[in-house]
Amino acid sequence: MAIIVQKFGGTSVGTVDRIKEVAKKLIQFQQQGHDLVVVVSAMSGETNRLVGLANELNDNPQGRELDVLLSTGEQITIALLCMALEQQGVHANSYTGSQVRILTDNTHNKARIMEIDDDKIRADLAKGHIVVVAGFQGCDESGNITTLGRGGSDTTAVALAAALKADECQIYTDVDGVYTTDPRVVPEAQRLDEITFEEMLEMASLGAKVLQIRSVEFASKYNVPLRVLSSFKDGGGTLITTEETEMEQALISGIAFNRDEAKLTILGVPDSPGIATQILGPIAKQNIEVDMIIQNTGHDGTTDFTFTVHRNDYPNAMAIMEATADELGAREVNGDDKITKISIVGVGMRSHAGIANIMFESLASEGINISMISTSEIKISVVVDQKYLELGVRTLHKAFELEQK
Ligand code: ASP
Ligand code: MG
Repeated sequence: MAIIVQKFGGTSVGTVDRIKEVAKKLIQFQQQGHDLVVVVSAMSGETNRLVGLANELNDNPQGRELDVLLSTGEQITIALLCMALEQQGVHANSYTGSQVRILTDNTHNKARIMEIDDDKIRADLAKGHIVVVAGFQGCDESGNITTLGRGGSDTTAVALAAALKADECQIYTDVDGVYTTDPRVVPEAQRLDEITFEEMLEMASLGAKVLQIRSVEFASKYNVPLRVLSSFKDGGGTLITTEETEMEQALISGIAFNRDEAKLTILGVPDSPGIATQILGPIAKQNIEVDMIIQNTGHDGTTDFTFTVHRNDYPNAMAIMEATADELGAREVNGDDKITKISIVGVGMRSHAGIANIMFESLASEGINISMISTSEIKISVVVDQKYLELGVRTLHKAFELEQK
């Protein structure tokens, strides 16, 4: 029989009534002939509440004991959901991560799943039971409880689906799918029926916070069809899958953006081997993540070098750059922490020329100045003044006819 793994997020199990609703839904699915493995998050707010308690007792709660504490959030939900199912006459068994034996490494608070023992789950399914597993947790080789990092229940669900070779991994959440862009910026944004793993990774890393990115990487690696759906609204949601299965290829699937960027430029540095590492090395040493990097063509033996960082890192990066500029005898350092990055994402770019030009032309027609550009195989990003974020995203959404998807 087809195994489906379904994951319900914190809001979907946020109250006793909602847990009852989830139980009803599960029973309907089971009656349609599916073998069901269910992963749940902690009730909404619960993980934050536990973090708050820890903070009251310790300046920097972390490691083993934080995992023992945080894992209890999901343990509450699995038991309650099974009770609701039993009440409605359906057999269900709950398992914590360590009871299943979701084996992880021993990096507390952000452990990685290494292996899943599926024996107990398969035995339960064979008996016609629904299996309910606590998300976000596992145990290391010595049996210590570990957690997978915030949002980690998505990854638990995908990992279980991979281990069980499930037909699909369905993530039930409070949005009904992945959209062409943020509907708060563009009300005409459309839900996508399908998107590729690669596109989703580009969209997710740029702010479409629907799924934990790691879960998408995991699903992509093990080829698990992943579907995002609403717990509250009927509909097919968005299927995240490999490129081949996509029926009709759009040029652009979506527009992502990062609000909080900053850029730094160092002017008149010697155009010689090693200059990039001399500039970016000290930045990397401070664990500041660099996104776009542009080096100009040299002129008179010198060149200019620009890169972007997260806005929070701007003051730090600026201080480092000023020191570097002195060392290298650079002419000047300048920067701007009021910029945003807008990106168009789509696998259709691979087979169509001229996409970049449509993007540049439509931004120009609105008088939006582009200060940096970077491209990859399926993405074109531009940096613009932050005041143009909304206008820029709206203009591009229209230019690529995404409201008609
Ligand atoms: N309860 C955990 C969190 O809030 C894990 C999850 O919900 O995915 O981060
Ligand atoms: Mg989540």
